[in-house]
Amino acid sequence: MYDTFMAALRCPVCGRISPADDTTNMTTKLRDEPDGSLFRVGDALAIHHATMEDSGYYAVQPPAEPVRIGQIWECPYCHHYPNWAEIVVGDGRIVSMEAIGLDHATLDRLHYLDEDVFYTAETLASRDLRELPRNELVPLLRRLLGVPACGG
Ligand SMILES: [Zn+2]
Repeated sequence: MYDTFMAALRCPVCGRISPADDTTNMTTKLRDEPDGSLFRVGDALAIHHATMEDSGYYAVQPPAEPVRIGQIWECPYCHHYPNWAEIVVGDGRIVSMEAIGLDHATLDRLHYLDEDVFYTAETLASRDLRELPRNELVPLLRRLLGVPACGG
C-alpha cells in the first residue's frame, strides 16, 4: 500500500500541465502506515525524520523547516519518467508541490530524495551501482550533477 501526492505539474519535456490527480503516479510510502490516502497542497502531513530512509527516501542533508522532498512523477501525456517535483512541508502541512529539475541547486535545497533517483544516478554514471553503499549514493549524485550544463 502507498499514498499518492496530487498536484498540477508542468512536464519539462512536453510542456503540458498535468491534472491534479493520481495520473502522475506520484506515489509514496513516506508515512509509517500508508493506506491509499490522497494528498493535496494544504493537507496535513507529518514527517517522521527517523524513518524517512526506511520509507523510500535518501536523506540529502539534515532536515530543517520547511522540509523539502524531491519526489518522482510521470507525465500523464508523454509518459516521461522520471520527472521531479519539490514537495514542501511546513508546520505539518503540505505548503506546495511544484515541478523542478534535478540539478546541483535543487540537491543543495532538498532534504530528502525519492530513492528511485538510484536509477537516474545509474544512467548519469553509465554503470551498475548495485554494489554502491547506500550512504554514497547522494555524494555520487552530487558529483554527477556538479558540472553546470554548457550551451543549454
Ligand atoms: Zn510530458
